[in-house]
Amino acid sequence: MNFLASDWILTCDENFAIIKDGVIVFDETIIDINTKENIEKKYPECEIVYQGENSVIMPGLINAHLHLEFSANKTTLSYGNFVKWLFSVIQNREELIEKATKELMDNELNKLLSNGTTTIGAISSYGFDLNSCSETKLNVVYFTEILGSKPEMIDTLLQDFREKFLLAKKHKSANFIPAIAIHSPYSTHPFLIREALRIAREENAPVSAHFMESPAENDWLNYSNGEFAMFFKDMLNQQKSLQTPSEFLMSFKNTNKLSFTHCVEANKDELSKIKELGATIIHCPNSNRLLNNKTLNLEYMDSIPLAIGTDGLSSNYTLDLFEELKSAFFIHKQFQTEELANKLILSATNGGAIALGLENKGSLKIAKDSDLIVFNLPDSVEIENLTTSIILHKTKVNKTFIRGNNELN
Ligand SMILES: [Zn+2]
Repeated sequence: MNFLASDWILTCDENFAIIKDGVIVFDETIIDINTKENIEKKYPECEIVYQGENSVIMPGLINAHLHLEFSANKTTLSYGNFVKWLFSVIQNREELIEKATKELMDNELNKLLSNGTTTIGAISSYGFDLNSCSETKLNVVYFTEILGSKPEMIDTLLQDFREKFLLAKKHKSANFIPAIAIHSPYSTHPFLIREALRIAREENAPVSAHFMESPAENDWLNYSNGEFAMFFKDMLNQQKSLQTPSEFLMSFKNTNKLSFTHCVEANKDELSKIKELGATIIHCPNSNRLLNNKTLNLEYMDSIPLAIGTDGLSSNYTLDLFEELKSAFFIHKQFQTEELANKLILSATNGGAIALGLENKGSLKIAKDSDLIVFNLPDSVEIENLTTSIILHKTKVNKTFIRGNNELN
């Protein structure tokens, strides 16, 4: 049993409770969490290990949305416009995928671990990341992705998806959870969506989809018009969108553990449908900025749960979620600093757990998994500046526990 004491413990529970001079008692799961004074009274014989001046213990971060298979991109892809970027992805896909060796993906996963992430939602387009994701010490919710809209290809695509999902299922374990991703409403045929979601319901698998990322997507889905029109005509000989945004969203009825990534172009009606579905929105601010998409309006989201992700290195320079929090902190200027810092840290922990359907993770509470990180701030801090200071000044993570094991040893 571990007794770790720190100056601050962020529980990241629904009340965002913060304990000053706290102790967390844990083995694989959390046994107790309270002030040092109370723990010493309750366990008089215990050996408490203090984590040093200005120490912080908080849940390990949950990067709810990334694509490891695009980890080889650094300077190859074109930014600044979604459609231009998409063309550059199509043009360079083979070369990038080939460069994304297991070694390269393992290296990214190890970096995630040392940067304080304990869980990821990994979108897998090809299954080339399966070995890296099933071998890592991180918790992985592994989303086998389905896409394609050509009617004559549908049966083959569905068969291919089934095989990939089946293979992922063979690796199912305490820290590897097979899940299903629908690429997007513009790229995936309604038949494939229906079939994939039927499997998700049968398996009670987490589900995720990209939704309303760019103006091009909005114009195409609503008016079969805009920057995508040429793309669909030339590439797929398709003149009309296969579904409206509402039709797409309604196909997710009765789907649990559901999340939609981006949603920056979603209107009030679509947001209220997302809320009705009980889904989470996953925010990827760096990716949105690099592709010149809108900024997610956090004030517009009503009470839809919020998670945060880095997206892939195809549209980011890092998979480090603390870096993403820093960007988000400077982007969303309409909030007070501490209010925003709290909101973002909650979205990177508790929000991520909700998005990925991980009931035992995301907050430090009795009986939850002991997925936690330990680091020290450079100087003392008042409680009202604590979360802002974490976002600005957290540097090295000293310990990363996953189910009670320090994986940085
Ligand atoms: Zn993505």
